[in-house]
Amino acid sequence: MKIKIRPRLPLRTALHLLFASTLLMAAWSAGMVHAEDKLIEIPLIKQRKAEMAAAAAAAAASEAQAPAAKEGSESVKQLRQALTAIGTPVKPAGEKSAVRPLERPVAHAPEKRRNVPNEELQSSRLYAKARAMALAKGEQGPHAEQPGADSHGEVHWSYDGENGPQNWSRLKPEFNLCGLGKRQSPIAIQSDTTLQGPAEPLQFIYTPSLATVVNNGHTVQVDVEGDNSITVRGSNYKLLQFHFHTPSEEMINSRRYAMVAHLVHKNETGQLAVVAVLLEQGDANPLMDKVWTYMPLDTNDRVRMPDGLLDLNEILPKDQRYYQFMGSLTTPPCSEGVLWMVLKQPVKISAAQYKLFRQQFPLNARPVQPVNGRVVREAN
Ligand SMILES: [Zn+2]
Repeated sequence: MKIKIRPRLPLRTALHLLFASTLLMAAWSAGMVHAEDKLIEIPLIKQRKAEMAAAAAAAAASEAQAPAAKEGSESVKQLRQALTAIGTPVKPAGEKSAVRPLERPVAHAPEKRRNVPNEELQSSRLYAKARAMALAKGEQGPHAEQPGADSHGEVHWSYDGENGPQNWSRLKPEFNLCGLGKRQSPIAIQSDTTLQGPAEPLQFIYTPSLATVVNNGHTVQVDVEGDNSITVRGSNYKLLQFHFHTPSEEMINSRRYAMVAHLVHKNETGQLAVVAVLLEQGDANPLMDKVWTYMPLDTNDRVRMPDGLLDLNEILPKDQRYYQFMGSLTTPPCSEGVLWMVLKQPVKISAAQYKLFRQQFPLNARPVQPVNGRVVREAN
């Protein structure tokens, strides 16, 4: 009797099949962990990648649209409207909308953006893109409120477009707090919800000083050397620098001012205390004239003022009552634990002084952030 024997697979073919199936298994498991690094594209991985991209797009879209729903939040578009209301024509936003999502939202994407599996991937992509842009432009981005020159800001954050405030937290891991922080600045202050009562007066100890005016790409900043400090809550904070925003980042009873000066101080333990001086149009301010005289001409240009010319007393209002709350830097990395004092009485600047700043920085204000139940103390 004849036994029918199935033809055996040639050994070489069998080995090829085994090798191919092993590769497929490896590619699939790699796709589960890190789809971006896989070597072989297989349909399942492609599908998963598409789902992840859709989820990321939805997350970006929901973040970009979130401010309309959040308490106290507003878009850069509204900031522009505020600037127009203050009385100065606003430079057009250009081709990019400030609240444009990174990608188009996808209908079947999940709603909870915090659970997006590849949020980290998305942020690393953005980071790489932002870094490439910054390198291409040769720009460094020291942020306004971090004292000293300790910026490693190769990321080009901005006040508009894809690298604008809605996406700061995604540009760099160190900027996480800009999106996740619960004690962020600036805020909208409503005097009917503040904690009113007696509070200690702010003690300003300012003397004529040596200063250097810097254009850091985000604002005009004045680095101050000399004996300048404030005393509040039993601690002495030394003045490091001051800088300007337009319009005012702070909103008081739904009102925004033409500009604000932020006077940044630091105490021995490293805590920051920022005094905000609101600026509105009127007579010329003598301190602004001195600083504007030494206005830098380009990003990272530094101009030294004559020793003793700068006197910070010239930018303080007579009435120094203030609002006080805990907040953050209003620029990346949005570090928290900053003690804020917003002086109630605005100080006048002339239309020409205002215009000179606006010509260089048409809009450099972060939108207001949720108060999240913070106590705002009003010193009467
Ligand atoms: Zn500031």
